[in-house]
Amino acid sequence: MVPTAMTSFSSGLMRRRESSAQVAAITTAGEAARPEPSQTAEAPQMAEATQTAGEAARPEASQTDEIIRAISSDGFVSITAISSRGLTERARCIHGSSPVVTAALGRTLAAASIIGSSMKKEGASLTVRINGGGPAGSIIAVSDHEGNVRGYVQNPTADVPSIRPGKLDVGGVVGKTGMLSIIRDFGEGEPYTGAAELVSGEIAEDFAAYFAYSEQVPTVCALGVLVARDRTVAAAGGYIAQLLPGAPDDAIDIIERNVAAAGHVTGILDGSSVDALVDAVMVGLSPRVIERRSVEYRCSCSRERVLSAIAGIDKAEYEDMRQKGEPVEVTCQFCDTVYLFDVSELGDKDSSLRSK
Ligand SMILES: [Zn+2]
Repeated sequence: MVPTAMTSFSSGLMRRRESSAQVAAITTAGEAARPEPSQTAEAPQMAEATQTAGEAARPEASQTDEIIRAISSDGFVSITAISSRGLTERARCIHGSSPVVTAALGRTLAAASIIGSSMKKEGASLTVRINGGGPAGSIIAVSDHEGNVRGYVQNPTADVPSIRPGKLDVGGVVGKTGMLSIIRDFGEGEPYTGAAELVSGEIAEDFAAYFAYSEQVPTVCALGVLVARDRTVAAAGGYIAQLLPGAPDDAIDIIERNVAAAGHVTGILDGSSVDALVDAVMVGLSPRVIERRSVEYRCSCSRERVLSAIAGIDKAEYEDMRQKGEPVEVTCQFCDTVYLFDVSELGDKDSSLRSK
C-alpha cells in the first residue's frame, strides 16, 4: 500500500523552483481589479444581502474555524457543520486564487473537512479529487481525521465570467464532465475509494449526489464562500446532513423544508457561530451537539516525506539531478513551504528506495 502523502506527491503535487517562480508571476499578473464583489452559487436576492453584509466589519467569531456534529433527538438525522473562513482565506493566500477558484476550492475544503472529521481513527486521512474538465483543472483537498485540511488547484488563477454581478460561476470554472472521488485511508489495509459522476460542478450538489449514488446515504449538502471586493474571503462554511438507517419518510421532508427556509450558508454564518447552521437546518428535530472542535488549514509535509517523494521520481531524472550536483529546491504545493536539499542528501536511488 502506498501512504497517502506519497500518493499525493507522485500525482505531481510537488513542484520545483522554476515552476514555482512561474506560478508567482502568473499570480501577480492575475491581480487585476475586479469590479464586482463575488457571491457564490446562491440565489440573487440573498446574494445581494450577503454581499452587503460581507462589506461590513467582520465579527471576531469568524476568526476561528470550527466544526460541530449534532444529532436529532430521535437519532435519525445527523448533521456536521463547519465555519471555515480562516482556512479558506489561508488557501487563497497560498495559491493566489481568483475569486471563482477561491469559491470552488473553499467549498471543496469545507466538504473534505466535514467528511474527514468523521474518520475516528488517529492517522486516518481523506482525499477528495474533483476533475470536472473546466479551466480550473483538478481540485484536490486532503483532510486529517480531525478535519484539518489542505488543498490544491491545478490552475488557481483560472477565471470565467460571473453568471451575473455577484454570482460566481463555480460550475463553469470546475466543469461538469468528470468525476468526484473520495479516498479514505485508514492507515492500514487498502484505502477505500468511491467515485461518482459530477452533476453540476457546483460542488455541494456533487457531494450530495456522491453520497446518494456511491454510498447510498440520503444526503443534503450546502456549501458557500463569500468573496469580498478585495478578493479576501469574507465568510465560508457549510453542512452535510444525512439520514441514518430506519429514518422515517418525513425526515427528509422536514430537512428540505428547513433548508429552503434557512437561506444561504454565508448569510446564516454572517456574524454568527457555526451553531446557527445546525439550528437552521434542524428546526423541529431537537438537535443535540455531540462533538465540537476547531479546525485549520494544516499541511503534513516534512523534509523526510519530501525526500522520499524525490526518491520516487523517474530514475533518469533523479540521476540527472545528482550528476548536476546543484542544490535541489522543492516547494510543497499544499502550503508553499520550500525545502532545500544538498545533492549529497539524495543518495543512491536504489539504496534510498530500499531503505524506505
Ligand atoms: Zn506542505
